[in-house]
Amino acid sequence: MKMTEIVRTYDELERLVQETYSVPDVDTLRRAYDMASKAHAGEKRLTGHDFITHPLAVAYRLADMGLHMNVVVAGLLHDVVEDTEISVETVEEHFGSDIASLVESVTKLKHTIKYRGVDRYAENMRKMFLAMASDVRVVFMKFADRLHNLSTLYGMPKKKQERIARESLEIYAPIAGRLGMSEFKGELEDGSFAYLHPKEYERMKNIMDIKVREKGAYVSRIIDQIEKFLAQTNVNDFQVHGRVKRLYSLHKKLNKYQGDLSKIYDLIAIRIIVSDVEECYMALGLLHQQWRPVPGRIKDYIAQPKPNGYQSLHTTVFTENGEIVEFQIRTTEMHELAEYGVAAHWRYKEGSHKPVKNTRWMEELAQIQKELQNKKDFMEQLEIMKIDVFKDRIFVFTPQGDVIDLPEGATPIDFAYAIHSEVGNKCTAARINEVMRNLDTSLTSGDIVEILTDKNRRGPNPDWLKFVKTRHARNKIKDATRHTVKGWFSEVLKGRERAKKHH
Ligand code: MN
Repeated sequence: MKMTEIVRTYDELERLVQETYSVPDVDTLRRAYDMASKAHAGEKRLTGHDFITHPLAVAYRLADMGLHMNVVVAGLLHDVVEDTEISVETVEEHFGSDIASLVESVTKLKHTIKYRGVDRYAENMRKMFLAMASDVRVVFMKFADRLHNLSTLYGMPKKKQERIARESLEIYAPIAGRLGMSEFKGELEDGSFAYLHPKEYERMKNIMDIKVREKGAYVSRIIDQIEKFLAQTNVNDFQVHGRVKRLYSLHKKLNKYQGDLSKIYDLIAIRIIVSDVEECYMALGLLHQQWRPVPGRIKDYIAQPKPNGYQSLHTTVFTENGEIVEFQIRTTEMHELAEYGVAAHWRYKEGSHKPVKNTRWMEELAQIQKELQNKKDFMEQLEIMKIDVFKDRIFVFTPQGDVIDLPEGATPIDFAYAIHSEVGNKCTAARINEVMRNLDTSLTSGDIVEILTDKNRRGPNPDWLKFVKTRHARNKIKDATRHTVKGWFSEVLKGRERAKKHH
C-alpha cells in the first residue's frame, strides 16, 4: 500500500476555507481557481486525472494547515507560470504582488532543485533549497506540492518514481526535520520509503498492523484509565491519545537495534496534552505513582529540548501484566510545534503561541513573533516573514551538477579557483547559464557556471584582484602572478645569457 491519492474538488476546498478562516476570501479563491482551471484545461496528470486536481490538492493541504489565505491562493496558481501561457505579471495584475512572488519563487525552485544522485551534495542542496526559497511560506508550498506528487507517483515511470522518492527522502524530509515539521517529515519519508524499499516497507507495515491488532484494545483501556486519573486532579483541559510509529522511523530504529523488535517500546505510544508546563510534570508524577517507570527511560525534553526545538516529557512504564508503554507529555503549544514546526507560527488560527527558544531557527522565529506583534501593516509583516537563512552564501553549479558554495558577490574567477587553482590560472572566459559573461559578473544562487580555459595561458591577470571575493582566489592569484613575474625575469636573464654566448 503506497501513499493514497485523495482527489479534491473545488467545493471541498471552498468549504474548508469557510470553516478555517474567520474572514474567508472566497472571491479571490474562486478567481484563482477559475484562472488555474482554464489555464490547465485539457492537461492531464500521468495518473489520468485532470491536472487541476493537483493544484487543488496542494491548496487544500495549505488551507488545512491554516496558513494565510495568500498561501492557499498561491497554491492554486503554483503551476500556471511553469506549465501554461500565464506570466508572473498576469498573476500580479489579478492577485497582487505577494501572491505573484510566491508563485514565482515556487517556479524558480523547481528549476534549481533537481537531485543529481550524489550523496555528498545532499547537504548543499538542502542549504540551497532554503537559500532559494528565502520565504518560509515557499517552503511550505513546496512541501505540499511534493507530498501530492508522492501520492501520485504510481502513475509515473519507474525511473522517475525513484528519482522523486530519493530527492524527497534526502533533501525535502531532512529540511522538514530541521524546521521541526515532523508531520511533513514523516509523510515525506514514508511516501518515499514505499518506492525506494518496497519490500522493507511492506515488512514494517506488517509489523505495525500486527502490533496495532494485538495492542489496540489494551492501549484504549490505558487511555481511559489516564483520563480518569486526570479528571480527579485540577487539570481540566487535557487530551489523551495513542500514536502509532511511522514506518520509516521504525525501519531506522530497527537497524539501530540489529532488528530486535523487543527493544522498541514506542511502536504505540500514548500522548498526553495539557495546558502548561506545570501540568506536564504533574501528569508525569501521576503516571509514576500509578506504574513503575522503566529505569533510564525518563527524558525531560522540556528542560533540555532537542536541537530542532522539540519539547516533551517522555517516560516508559510497566503497566498491568508487565506491559511496557511509552508516554509523551506536552503542552498544546509544544504539540503544535512538534507537528508543524516553524509552520505553527504562520498558522492563521488564533491562539497564543509562546515560541520555544532553543535552536537558531526557533530564536529567529521567536524574534519574528515579537516583531509581528508590534507591526500592524500586513505588507510589513510579510517582509519580516522572509527568512534569510543563508543570506551571505550562494550556491552555484558546475555543468556536471556539483554544487560550489561561495560568498555573495562571488565571480566566475572565485568559482574557477574553488574548483582547482589550475582552472583559475588558465581561465579565459565564463559561460553562465549558457551565456558568455564577463569574468567579474556577480553570480547568483542556482547559476550553472562553465569555465573556459586555455592551457597555453601564462597565468592569471593581476586585475582580477580588483573584483574577486574569496581569500582563496586572491591568494592563488597573488602566488601565480609572483611566479609569472619571476618566470619572466628568468626568461629575460636566460635570453641575455644566450645573447652573450652568441657574441
Ligand atoms: Mn506542482
